[in-house]
Amino acid sequence: MSYKLADRVLRAKPSATNMLDKRTKELIAQGRDIIALNYGEPDFDTPPHVKQAAIAAIEAGKTKYTQVDGTPELKQAIIGKLQRENNLTYEANQILVSCGGKHSIANALQALLNVGDEVIIPAPFWVSYPEMVRIADGTPVIISADITQNFKITAAQLEKAITPKTKLFMLNSPSNPSGAAYTHAELVALGEVLLRHPQVLILSDDLYEHILWTAEPFHNIVNACPALYERSIVINGVSKAYAMTGWRIGYAAGAAEIIKAMTLIQSQATSCPCSISQAASVAALNSDRHWMQPMVDAYKERHDYMVPALNEIPGFNCRYSEGAFYLFPNVEQAIAKLGLADDMAFADYLLNKAEVSLVPGTPFGLPGYIRFSYATSMELLQESVRRIRAAVL
Ligand code: GLU
Repeated sequence: MSYKLADRVLRAKPSATNMLDKRTKELIAQGRDIIALNYGEPDFDTPPHVKQAAIAAIEAGKTKYTQVDGTPELKQAIIGKLQRENNLTYEANQILVSCGGKHSIANALQALLNVGDEVIIPAPFWVSYPEMVRIADGTPVIISADITQNFKITAAQLEKAITPKTKLFMLNSPSNPSGAAYTHAELVALGEVLLRHPQVLILSDDLYEHILWTAEPFHNIVNACPALYERSIVINGVSKAYAMTGWRIGYAAGAAEIIKAMTLIQSQATSCPCSISQAASVAALNSDRHWMQPMVDAYKERHDYMVPALNEIPGFNCRYSEGAFYLFPNVEQAIAKLGLADDMAFADYLLNKAEVSLVPGTPFGLPGYIRFSYATSMELLQESVRRIRAAVL
């Protein structure tokens, strides 16, 4: 039987990161010795005090529905975090807790977009952004920023992309997949453009804020341009900072009216996020930042090993990045040398020949590149470089 599916399904592509993760896990289950550098999630365990808080919540019977928009305790912890770490002030009606940062973003898009609304997305982008926009009936407008401009768009590019139909501008810094982070001055320049176009809302995806090794501390666009506070939605979560990807807790902070609309969408779709994960997230967000430092130090050490190691592979061109746990080398010359069609074929080739799983650049909006997630041990990284080198030579 052939089913007539909704147009929104037909116009969107499946998540490249999720699909490749499934395929890689299947190959590993079949006994293949695959090194998985494809999925973007910390290889560290969730801190013990966070696990203990979840166990205590179960034992205390906190196993029922919570408020749709999150428990008062978690919302307070989020407000405290945003004030303490980001110098941003919010009230409880400006916060929505959801099932991961991805869910927070989906809620925002569902709450804001009408058919034909344009959403400006710098490429390379996280694979899901344009597809989530399409599912919400919007039109993605892509601005490309390749390695020659350090994967960062300029104010002039942003200005050029804005039309009367522009509803939203999405920014992710530090970036998945490039690891690039905008400086304060660069954010001010983008902010000045946005100030000239008051109809444009801003979604700042700050999931990787703590995984950063620049001399400057983390800033988002609202810090750089406080006049944008009213029309910015700040997205964050516990997945990356506290190694809690499976717990599925993300949150959004923004204008009360927008948060209310997002809460309506969530209340009709998923209800509250998991009560136990919310209790664990309170412990995470209220904890001292020293829990994060060993993870960040390890990512930096791996980054410092990987960049020169990748640049020694013929046909690879990799820049030093500012944060996250991704590298996004240009591999056009390696693809040409091997006589392959494109980065998709190259990723397939490396999976089969080198048994290293990587996500090609095309689903991130930048063909000719490939993403390395270095959230894995140094031994596996060294072995992956050895294998890729042998497969490319
Ligand atoms: N953030 C992770 C990645 O980019 C996985 C999450 C996802 O794509 O759903 O690989």
